[in-house]
Amino acid sequence: MTSREELEAQLGATRRRLEELTVEVARNDEIMERAQRRELRLLQAESFEALILGLIDGLRISYGVDYVSLVLCDPDHDIRHLLLANGTPAEDFAHLLVVESMSGLAPQYIALEQPWLGVFAACDHQLICPHAVDARSIAMIPLSHRGKLLGSINLCSSDPLRFTHEHASDFLAHLGVIASFCIENTINRARLLRSGFTDVLTGWHNRRYLTVRTNEELARARRDGSKLVCLMLDIDYFKQVNDTWGHAAGDAVLRELAQRIEMQVRASDVAARYGGEEFVVLLPNTDVTSASRLAERIRKEIAASPIALPSGDSVRITASIGIAEVSPGPADKDLKTLGDSLIARADVALYAAKSAGRDRVVVETA
Ligand code: GH3
Ligand code: MG
Ligand code: MG
Repeated sequence: MTSREELEAQLGATRRRLEELTVEVARNDEIMERAQRRELRLLQAESFEALILGLIDGLRISYGVDYVSLVLCDPDHDIRHLLLANGTPAEDFAHLLVVESMSGLAPQYIALEQPWLGVFAACDHQLICPHAVDARSIAMIPLSHRGKLLGSINLCSSDPLRFTHEHASDFLAHLGVIASFCIENTINRARLLRSGFTDVLTGWHNRRYLTVRTNEELARARRDGSKLVCLMLDIDYFKQVNDTWGHAAGDAVLRELAQRIEMQVRASDVAARYGGEEFVVLLPNTDVTSASRLAERIRKEIAASPIALPSGDSVRITASIGIAEVSPGPADKDLKTLGDSLIARADVALYAAKSAGRDRVVVETA
């Protein structure tokens, strides 16, 4: 080969290498952009629910893996309660596991500081990925805050070579940091929001919360074609309790009353302190007949035994309850007005109960 031919061959090889590198750079750019888009979507999640779905369904789709589960450690039951308060209990999320402690769930949790990539072993991973069928490899991405493990995102693939010890895991580690930040942030935001929704005296939800939830429940009833019933309860002659025993005694009565009502309602019902000595319970998916039965149980429970006061005395009280129901149809667009009128109608029924002599339940006559 002449030196000119040699030179041309070298040049050709260099050109090819350059082309390969250009393709690789473009591919890396694309991977990087995809990762950034994915993380941006998590950062933009508007609620805790949206974030959870983004972490489970969003990552499953964007990584093109077969199965994703999310494990969150919740020793103080904060996460569960926040989700419950927002109307979507943790159990409603198919691949979310909210656990009190992570020890014993998977051997990798003992020291999971970086993503762990490797063979999916049913004996090690079925507790954290209970619905992963045919999984052959897994990436466990730790979620942590200030060095404490908060949970993990688990990506599973039926391809045994998808996640192996040899794979680089920088992108996954970065995703874990962003996801941890989003979770921590969303929980704090939800907590803050919730504190503005809570009545300090009874620990019940307040009227602001009721307004938000009435809207949500009406939307759900409209979607499902179901009914929503509203109970409005007001203590009879409560002013006398205050006048006779003082305000601290009145407060104790309000707290005890909230507890007596709470004992009768279901977790899916929405109970709130509406005003001074007025309480509202929204019953989704119920009709007035069963709502009246519940209201009777509440009324009897309140009247059944005297309430102990801080002074050592005790007082018997009764309450009146008004009931109204609504079945929102597709034509009902203004849910705010519909909610206001539902509560107003329950209030009219309550007024009728007061007029008829108190300590009774009255269903609105539409
Ligand atoms: P009725 O049977 O018609 O409902 O009579 P009532 O005395 O219960 O009705 P009224 O609305 O006149 O009295 C409500 C009282 O509730 C007046 C108010 O001082 C008292 N109240 C409202 N909020 C609180 C509270 O947080 N603590 C205490 N101790 N009293 C409260
Ligand atoms: Mg009142
Ligand atoms: Mg009253």
